[in-house]
Amino acid sequence: MGSVLSVRGLSVRYGRSVGALTDVDIDVEGDDVLAILGGNGAGKSTLLRAVSGTLSLHRGAITAGEIRLADERIDRMDPALVVRRGVVAVPEGRQIFGRMSVEENLRAGGLGARSTRTRDEARERVHELFPVLSERAGQPAGLLSGGEQQMLAIGRALMSGPTLLLLDEPSLGLAPQLVGRIGEIIREIHDQGTGVVLVEQNATMALKVADHAVALEVGRVALSGTADELSGSDEIQHLYLGGHAESDEQAELERVEADRRRAGRRLARWTG
Ligand code: ATP
Repeated sequence: MGSVLSVRGLSVRYGRSVGALTDVDIDVEGDDVLAILGGNGAGKSTLLRAVSGTLSLHRGAITAGEIRLADERIDRMDPALVVRRGVVAVPEGRQIFGRMSVEENLRAGGLGARSTRTRDEARERVHELFPVLSERAGQPAGLLSGGEQQMLAIGRALMSGPTLLLLDEPSLGLAPQLVGRIGEIIREIHDQGTGVVLVEQNATMALKVADHAVALEVGRVALSGTADELSGSDEIQHLYLGGHAESDEQAELERVEADRRRAGRRLARWTG
Protein backbone atom coordinates (compact mmCIF):
# COMPACT_ATOMS: atom_id res chain seq x y z
CA MET A 1 0.00 0.00 0.00
CA GLY A 2 1.39 3.44 -0.95
CA SER A 3 1.81 6.42 1.29
CA VAL A 4 -1.53 8.06 2.00
CA LEU A 5 -0.23 11.16 3.70
CA SER A 6 3.17 12.70 3.18
CA VAL A 7 4.32 15.88 4.92
CA ARG A 8 7.68 17.29 3.81
CA GLY A 9 9.70 20.16 5.24
CA LEU A 10 6.63 21.71 6.87
CA SER A 11 7.08 24.99 8.72
CA VAL A 12 4.19 26.89 10.30
CA ARG A 13 3.91 30.18 12.08
CA TYR A 14 1.09 32.01 13.88
CA GLY A 15 0.90 35.74 13.21
CA ARG A 16 4.29 37.27 13.72
CA SER A 17 5.25 34.98 16.58
CA VAL A 18 8.09 32.48 16.41
CA GLY A 19 7.50 29.37 14.32
CA ALA A 20 5.25 26.65 15.76
CA LEU A 21 6.64 23.96 13.41
CA THR A 22 10.01 23.80 11.66
CA ASP A 23 10.95 21.45 8.83
CA VAL A 24 8.63 18.61 9.88
CA ASP A 25 8.40 15.36 7.88
CA ILE A 26 5.79 12.68 8.57
CA ASP A 27 4.29 9.81 6.57
CA VAL A 28 1.21 7.67 7.02
CA GLU A 29 1.40 4.52 4.97
CA GLY A 30 -1.90 2.91 4.00
CA ASP A 31 -4.10 2.37 7.03
CA ASP A 32 -1.30 2.79 9.58
CA VAL A 33 -1.81 4.43 12.95
CA LEU A 34 0.80 7.17 13.39
CA ALA A 35 1.18 8.59 16.91
CA ILE A 36 2.38 12.17 17.37
CA LEU A 37 3.86 12.57 20.84
CA GLY A 38 5.14 15.67 22.59
CA GLY A 39 4.64 17.88 25.62
CA ASN A 40 2.56 21.07 25.88
CA GLY A 41 3.21 23.47 23.02
CA ALA A 42 5.32 21.00 21.02
CA GLY A 43 3.24 21.65 17.88
CA LYS A 44 1.02 18.54 17.78
CA SER A 45 -2.30 20.34 17.24
CA THR A 46 -0.63 22.69 14.76
CA LEU A 47 0.42 19.70 12.68
CA LEU A 48 -3.17 18.39 12.60
CA ARG A 49 -4.48 21.85 11.69
CA ALA A 50 -2.01 22.07 8.82
CA VAL A 51 -3.11 18.67 7.46
CA SER A 52 -6.82 19.45 7.78
CA GLY A 53 -6.35 22.89 6.16
CA THR A 54 -7.69 24.78 9.17
CA LEU A 55 -4.61 26.80 10.17
CA SER A 56 -6.04 30.06 8.86
CA LEU A 57 -8.97 29.75 11.30
CA HIS A 58 -6.32 30.09 14.03
CA ARG A 59 -4.34 32.86 12.27
CA GLY A 60 -1.66 30.36 11.36
CA ALA A 61 0.03 29.83 8.00
CA ILE A 62 2.36 27.40 6.29
CA THR A 63 5.64 29.15 5.51
CA ALA A 64 7.48 26.24 3.88
CA GLY A 65 7.04 22.65 2.78
CA GLU A 66 4.20 20.63 1.32
CA ILE A 67 1.47 18.17 2.30
CA ARG A 68 0.35 15.48 -0.12
CA LEU A 69 -2.51 13.03 0.02
CA ALA A 70 -1.63 10.20 -2.34
CA ASP A 71 -0.17 12.35 -5.15
CA GLU A 72 -2.26 15.44 -4.65
CA ARG A 73 -1.08 18.60 -2.86
CA ILE A 74 -3.57 19.54 -0.13
CA ASP A 75 -1.63 22.28 1.67
CA ARG A 76 -3.44 25.08 -0.15
CA MET A 77 -6.78 23.33 -0.37
CA ASP A 78 -10.03 24.55 1.17
CA PRO A 79 -10.79 22.56 4.38
CA ALA A 80 -14.14 21.36 2.98
CA LEU A 81 -12.33 19.88 -0.02
CA VAL A 82 -9.79 18.20 2.27
CA VAL A 83 -12.76 16.49 3.98
CA ARG A 84 -14.06 15.47 0.55
CA ARG A 85 -10.66 13.86 -0.13
CA GLY A 86 -11.29 11.68 2.94
CA VAL A 87 -9.31 13.49 5.66
CA VAL A 88 -11.47 14.19 8.73
CA ALA A 89 -10.37 15.70 12.04
CA VAL A 90 -11.68 15.28 15.57
CA PRO A 91 -10.32 18.40 17.31
CA GLU A 92 -9.27 18.51 20.95
CA GLY A 93 -12.15 19.00 23.39
CA ARG A 94 -14.70 16.93 21.41
CA GLN A 95 -16.81 19.88 20.24
CA ILE A 96 -20.03 18.00 19.72
CA PHE A 97 -23.33 19.91 19.39
CA GLY A 98 -24.63 19.58 22.96
CA ARG A 99 -28.24 20.63 22.31
CA MET A 100 -28.66 18.45 19.27
CA SER A 101 -29.51 14.78 19.71
CA VAL A 102 -26.89 12.07 19.31
CA GLU A 103 -28.53 11.06 16.02
CA GLU A 104 -28.53 14.65 14.71
CA ASN A 105 -24.83 14.95 15.54
CA LEU A 106 -24.14 11.80 13.54
CA ARG A 107 -26.27 13.04 10.66
CA ALA A 108 -24.28 16.29 10.60
CA GLY A 109 -21.10 14.23 10.24
CA GLY A 110 -22.63 12.36 7.31
CA LEU A 111 -23.08 15.56 5.29
CA GLY A 112 -19.49 15.27 4.07
CA ALA A 113 -20.01 11.73 2.72
CA ARG A 114 -19.21 11.18 -0.97
CA SER A 115 -22.45 9.23 -1.61
CA THR A 116 -25.56 7.90 0.11
CA ARG A 117 -24.03 4.44 0.00
CA THR A 118 -20.87 5.63 1.79
CA ARG A 119 -23.08 7.26 4.40
CA ASP A 120 -25.21 4.15 4.95
CA GLU A 121 -22.14 1.96 5.30
CA ALA A 122 -20.57 4.47 7.66
CA ARG A 123 -23.69 4.58 9.81
CA GLU A 124 -23.65 0.79 10.17
CA ARG A 125 -19.99 0.88 11.09
CA VAL A 126 -20.50 3.61 13.70
CA HIS A 127 -23.38 1.73 15.35
CA GLU A 128 -21.28 -1.44 15.45
CA LEU A 129 -18.31 0.37 17.00
CA PHE A 130 -20.42 2.36 19.47
CA PRO A 131 -23.64 0.54 20.45
CA VAL A 132 -24.19 3.16 23.15
CA LEU A 133 -24.82 5.78 20.45
CA SER A 134 -27.77 3.73 19.13
CA GLU A 135 -29.14 3.31 22.63
CA ARG A 136 -28.99 7.07 23.27
CA ALA A 137 -29.84 8.21 19.73
CA GLY A 138 -32.71 10.54 20.73
CA GLN A 139 -31.04 12.19 23.74
CA PRO A 140 -29.29 15.56 23.72
CA ALA A 141 -25.57 14.93 23.14
CA GLY A 142 -24.72 17.29 26.02
CA LEU A 143 -26.14 14.72 28.48
CA LEU A 144 -23.64 12.03 27.46
CA SER A 145 -20.66 11.29 29.75
CA GLY A 146 -17.20 12.53 28.75
CA GLY A 147 -16.24 9.14 27.32
CA GLU A 148 -19.52 8.85 25.39
CA GLN A 149 -19.04 12.35 23.98
CA GLN A 150 -15.59 11.33 22.78
CA MET A 151 -17.15 8.28 21.12
CA LEU A 152 -19.77 10.53 19.49
CA ALA A 153 -17.06 12.90 18.22
CA ILE A 154 -15.18 9.97 16.65
CA GLY A 155 -18.44 8.43 15.36
CA ARG A 156 -19.46 11.72 13.77
CA ALA A 157 -16.09 11.95 12.00
CA LEU A 158 -16.48 8.37 10.72
CA MET A 159 -19.90 9.18 9.25
CA SER A 160 -18.34 10.68 6.11
CA GLY A 161 -16.38 7.47 5.44
CA PRO A 162 -12.86 8.96 5.83
CA THR A 163 -9.66 7.29 4.60
CA LEU A 164 -7.62 9.19 7.19
CA LEU A 165 -8.81 10.19 10.66
CA LEU A 166 -6.98 12.91 12.62
CA LEU A 167 -7.53 12.55 16.38
CA ASP A 168 -6.38 15.28 18.78
CA GLU A 169 -5.89 13.90 22.30
CA PRO A 170 -8.89 11.56 22.45
CA SER A 171 -7.82 10.31 25.89
CA LEU A 172 -7.82 13.77 27.49
CA GLY A 173 -9.76 13.81 30.76
CA LEU A 174 -10.94 10.20 30.52
CA ALA A 175 -10.66 7.58 33.27
CA PRO A 176 -7.93 4.95 32.63
CA GLN A 177 -10.49 2.25 31.78
CA LEU A 178 -12.04 4.44 29.08
CA VAL A 179 -8.63 5.39 27.72
CA GLY A 180 -8.07 1.67 27.12
CA ARG A 181 -11.42 1.40 25.33
CA ILE A 182 -10.65 4.41 23.09
CA GLY A 183 -7.32 2.72 22.26
CA GLU A 184 -9.14 -0.48 21.23
CA ILE A 185 -11.57 1.52 19.12
CA ILE A 186 -8.70 3.25 17.28
CA ARG A 187 -7.26 -0.18 16.52
CA GLU A 188 -10.67 -1.37 15.23
CA ILE A 189 -10.90 1.70 13.00
CA HIS A 190 -7.47 0.81 11.59
CA ASP A 191 -8.51 -2.84 11.11
CA GLN A 192 -11.45 -1.65 9.01
CA GLY A 193 -9.03 0.12 6.64
CA THR A 194 -8.85 3.73 7.88
CA GLY A 195 -5.49 5.39 8.60
CA VAL A 196 -5.20 7.37 11.83
CA VAL A 197 -2.98 10.21 12.99
CA LEU A 198 -3.22 10.13 16.76
CA VAL A 199 -2.00 13.15 18.73
CA GLU A 200 -1.48 12.16 22.36
CA GLN A 201 0.23 13.26 25.53
CA ASN A 202 -0.58 9.81 26.88
CA ALA A 203 2.42 8.09 25.30
CA THR A 204 1.71 4.76 26.98
CA MET A 205 -1.67 4.46 25.24
CA ALA A 206 -0.46 5.96 21.96
CA LEU A 207 2.52 3.62 21.59
CA LYS A 208 0.34 0.61 22.40
CA VAL A 209 -2.08 1.53 19.63
CA ALA A 210 0.24 2.96 16.94
CA ASP A 211 2.31 1.30 14.23
CA HIS A 212 4.69 4.25 13.89
CA ALA A 213 5.33 7.31 16.02
CA VAL A 214 7.09 10.66 15.97
CA ALA A 215 8.00 12.79 18.96
CA LEU A 216 7.85 16.56 18.48
CA GLU A 217 9.92 18.91 20.59
CA VAL A 218 9.58 22.64 20.21
CA GLY A 219 8.10 22.25 16.73
CA ARG A 220 10.69 19.82 15.36
CA VAL A 221 10.72 16.06 14.95
CA ALA A 222 13.03 14.85 17.73
CA LEU A 223 12.52 11.11 17.20
CA SER A 224 10.67 8.89 14.76
CA GLY A 225 10.36 5.17 14.13
CA THR A 226 8.11 2.20 14.69
CA ALA A 227 6.06 2.30 17.89
CA ASP A 228 8.15 -0.63 19.19
CA GLU A 229 11.41 1.19 18.49
CA LEU A 230 10.19 4.30 20.27
CA SER A 231 8.77 2.38 23.24
CA GLY A 232 12.20 0.83 23.70
CA SER A 233 14.14 4.08 23.35
CA ASP A 234 15.68 5.49 26.52
CA GLU A 235 14.74 9.04 25.59
CA ILE A 236 11.05 8.15 25.18
CA GLN A 237 11.16 6.17 28.43
CA HIS A 238 12.54 9.16 30.30
CA LEU A 239 10.55 11.91 28.58
CA TYR A 240 7.12 10.31 28.29
CA LEU A 241 6.86 6.95 29.99
CA GLY A 242 8.21 7.74 33.44
CA GLY A 243 11.48 5.77 33.03
CA HIS A 244 11.46 2.32 34.57
CA ALA A 245 9.44 3.42 37.56
CA GLU A 246 8.40 0.92 40.19
CA SER A 247 5.12 2.65 41.11
CA ASP A 248 2.59 5.13 39.71
CA GLU A 249 3.80 7.78 42.18
CA GLN A 250 7.37 7.26 41.07
CA ALA A 251 6.26 7.45 37.41
CA GLU A 252 4.41 10.73 38.11
CA LEU A 253 7.48 12.19 39.82
CA GLU A 254 9.66 11.19 36.90
CA ARG A 255 7.19 12.73 34.45
CA VAL A 256 7.25 16.02 36.39
CA GLU A 257 11.04 15.89 36.41
CA ALA A 258 11.09 15.18 32.65
CA ASP A 259 8.81 18.20 32.07
CA ARG A 260 11.18 20.35 34.08
CA ARG A 261 14.17 19.11 32.07
CA ARG A 262 12.27 19.83 28.85
CA ALA A 263 11.44 23.36 29.96
CA GLY A 264 15.11 23.90 30.91
CA ARG A 265 16.27 22.76 27.46
CA ARG A 266 13.72 25.02 25.79
CA LEU A 267 14.89 27.99 27.86
CA ALA A 268 18.50 27.22 26.98
CA ARG A 269 17.56 27.23 23.28
CA TRP A 270 15.72 30.55 23.54
CA THR A 271 18.50 32.25 25.43
CA GLY A 272 21.08 30.79 23.03
P1 ATP B 1 -0.84 20.97 23.75
O1 ATP B 1 -0.53 19.54 24.00
O2 ATP B 1 -0.59 21.85 24.94
O3 ATP B 1 -2.18 21.20 23.11
P2 ATP B 1 0.54 21.15 21.19
O4 ATP B 1 1.71 20.24 21.09
O5 ATP B 1 -0.72 20.73 20.53
O6 ATP B 1 0.29 21.52 22.72
P3 ATP B 1 0.26 23.56 19.65
O7 ATP B 1 -1.08 23.89 20.19
O8 ATP B 1 0.36 23.06 18.26
O9 ATP B 1 1.04 22.56 20.61
O10 ATP B 1 1.16 24.87 19.80
C1 ATP B 1 2.48 24.99 19.23
C2 ATP B 1 2.99 26.41 19.47
O11 ATP B 1 2.19 27.33 18.74
C3 ATP B 1 2.93 26.84 20.93
O12 ATP B 1 4.05 27.66 21.19
C4 ATP B 1 1.64 27.65 21.00
O13 ATP B 1 1.72 28.63 21.99
C5 ATP B 1 1.58 28.28 19.61
N1 ATP B 1 0.19 28.48 19.16
C6 ATP B 1 -0.78 27.54 19.03
N2 ATP B 1 -1.94 28.07 18.58
C7 ATP B 1 -1.69 29.39 18.42
C8 ATP B 1 -2.47 30.51 17.98
N3 ATP B 1 -3.75 30.36 17.57
N4 ATP B 1 -1.88 31.73 17.95
C9 ATP B 1 -0.59 31.90 18.35
N5 ATP B 1 0.21 30.90 18.76
C10 ATP B 1 -0.32 29.66 18.81
